[in-house]
Amino acid sequence: MAKQINVALIGNPNTGKTSVFNQLTGLNQKVGNYPGITVEKKEGICKLPRGLRAHILDLPGTYSLNASSIDENVVIELLLNKNDKDYPDVAVVVSDVENLKRNLLLFTQIKDLGIPTILVINMADRMERKGISLDVELMEERLKTKIALVSARKNMGIEELKEMIINYRHIPVEPCVNASVIDPDYFGRLRKAFPNQSLYKLWLVITQDVNFGNINRSEITSNTDFHTKSISDLKRLQQKETILRYQFINGVLRETMTVDKDAATDLRSRLDRILTHKVWGYVIFFGILLLIFQAIYSWSSYPMDLIDAAFASLGEMARNSLPPGDFTSLIAEGIIPGLGGIVIFIPQIAFLFLFISILEESGYMSRVVFLMDRIMRRFGLSGKSVVPLVSGTACAIPAVMATRNIEHWKERLITILVVPFTTCSARLPVYLIIIALVIPDRSFLGFNLQGLTLMILYLLGFGMAIFSAWALDKIMKTRSKSYFVIEMPNYKVPMLKNVAINVVEKTKSFVFGAGKIILAISVILWVLASYGPGDDFNKADEIVTAKYENPSEMPEQDILEEEIASYKLKHSYIGHMGRFIEPAVEPLGYDWKIGIAIISSFAAREVFVGTLATIYSVGSDQEETIKNRMAAETNPVLGGPLFTFASGVSLLLFYAFAMQCMSTLAIVKRETNTWKWPLLQLITMSGFAYLVALAAFQLLK
Ligand code: GDP
Ligand code: MG
Repeated sequence: MAKQINVALIGNPNTGKTSVFNQLTGLNQKVGNYPGITVEKKEGICKLPRGLRAHILDLPGTYSLNASSIDENVVIELLLNKNDKDYPDVAVVVSDVENLKRNLLLFTQIKDLGIPTILVINMADRMERKGISLDVELMEERLKTKIALVSARKNMGIEELKEMIINYRHIPVEPCVNASVIDPDYFGRLRKAFPNQSLYKLWLVITQDVNFGNINRSEITSNTDFHTKSISDLKRLQQKETILRYQFINGVLRETMTVDKDAATDLRSRLDRILTHKVWGYVIFFGILLLIFQAIYSWSSYPMDLIDAAFASLGEMARNSLPPGDFTSLIAEGIIPGLGGIVIFIPQIAFLFLFISILEESGYMSRVVFLMDRIMRRFGLSGKSVVPLVSGTACAIPAVMATRNIEHWKERLITILVVPFTTCSARLPVYLIIIALVIPDRSFLGFNLQGLTLMILYLLGFGMAIFSAWALDKIMKTRSKSYFVIEMPNYKVPMLKNVAINVVEKTKSFVFGAGKIILAISVILWVLASYGPGDDFNKADEIVTAKYENPSEMPEQDILEEEIASYKLKHSYIGHMGRFIEPAVEPLGYDWKIGIAIISSFAAREVFVGTLATIYSVGSDQEETIKNRMAAETNPVLGGPLFTFASGVSLLLFYAFAMQCMSTLAIVKRETNTWKWPLLQLITMSGFAYLVALAAFQLLK
């Protein structure tokens, strides 16, 4: 195997780390988690000339090496632990040319750890407009490193960066700031006690709660020589260190950078004035949401119709071309409809993520966070809760992870508890099919009623999240103390590559994450529906035929077959299970088939549609799409169609509020380290959902 270089991309948030990462690795990347904790880990491979390969790690954004969140801790632990398999041979600090002063603080800290450190000055394409000019050579000399002037957007400077990575051994590792001058005496004693360790690493270990390599933190801090400093002494020294670093940075920038102030435009401040306006800000945000949901509806209907038709004919083809028997029936009635139930929602999910990533990329999402902080405060949440709540529209699992940025534990806990109310993409398939069935496809004041319903459901989920946060805040008597700091990045035209990679990756994880479960459950359901106990199931043919004593009363062949199939289904294993829970769901307007689908939804909500697809096509030989099949169902108690406005709304509300996701429960357990909170979510959310669905059906029927 060729030699592999470990590269870590480090930098403040929004400096373009991920963009540089995408340029270096393309689609050669994978996203996972750091072991034991739930911070997202992005890594990829970059092929370099001369057969070399670089393993690139896109680390979470961090402002300094003085950790204040779990995300930042990941960076520090990696840089302090030489034994970590990802320990970088070379660190690449990504900075934004417009915020060099702040960005360089982190650079100087990392440089002082003695790791070869390359400085990337990104967003070089904006220098001309902002009137910034740099003396890169002089800066390299003063910072004692190699500098790559890069524009990830224009794909400029990336080749030079690769060249620097290859030659990382030539980068000097001497520090650029001598931190020990803040307390020479103390650092002198440290030096003597641990002569073989990097002094700056020791200092970092002492000032924060991390271990490194084979030195244990307690080993240092319990050493009487170093016990002499109180926490507040250490904090004061840390501040001294920061001031020292800024003095150094200011000196460097004075010599090497000039900014022609007149060239700077005030477009940003004018945009900010409107987009974060007390009234217009919200109106615009609301308008954008409305537009997004309308677009999801109308644009994705074309590919969805195609997929629908394709899977219908695929099933037909399998039935016609394979020999009849259990195997064919498994393929045609279990696997193909199950797969179709996943694939059909790819267009909508892709569109949703397309819009979310455009909002993020453009810098607008940060304004939304800022705007929402005014409201969130009142409900015991922080402005930072908006990010989890908005990511909750994709999936509650990354959203629960995203709460790690909230420093205040109670605000964080409340956010975790309410996030599952936001409408995740797994609910989308359920909503879409029910809406298509029970909401007329008409316009109201120029808006499509179905799109409007979908938007109301999203707002309902969001509203419920906010309301329960408020209630929890009252119950827990939280007085929130955290301060709200948010970076306002410049407005930018979104980078196509970033958006595309994000959409592909999110859609992939939906398809493969959910797909496996959906397929497995489709097969289990097919088995449960294709076999049954006793004669009722096994002799269904004879029993149904026997009802017609007089051969002249015998109905036509295909009607008879349907009757047999439905009789069989009713007496299959799944039929028994469904009828067992039917009394509980009947007051909500559902029959036993929907009952089954609800139960299987606990594995993953989107299974609902696949389940119904399987249940219905098992009963039918006809080439019908799932939607038509559902429309033809009748209510066993009330007669008439099963999916009416009343039962449809009841079902929509049930899915809006119920806690039906095993994976979310598992992640909440992991984040809160107790079963107490996930169980609370399961019981209260599902109980509430049941009551609301019950009330809705009883009032509307
Ligand atoms: P990260 O938070 O450090 O991972 O930063 P991202 O890679 O997500 O980028 C933040 C924003 O900067 C996005 O809107 C990017 O489109 C934008 N961006 C990244 N690189 C460049 C660049 O070279 N030039 C310009 N003008 N914008 C860039
Ligand atoms: Mg990033």
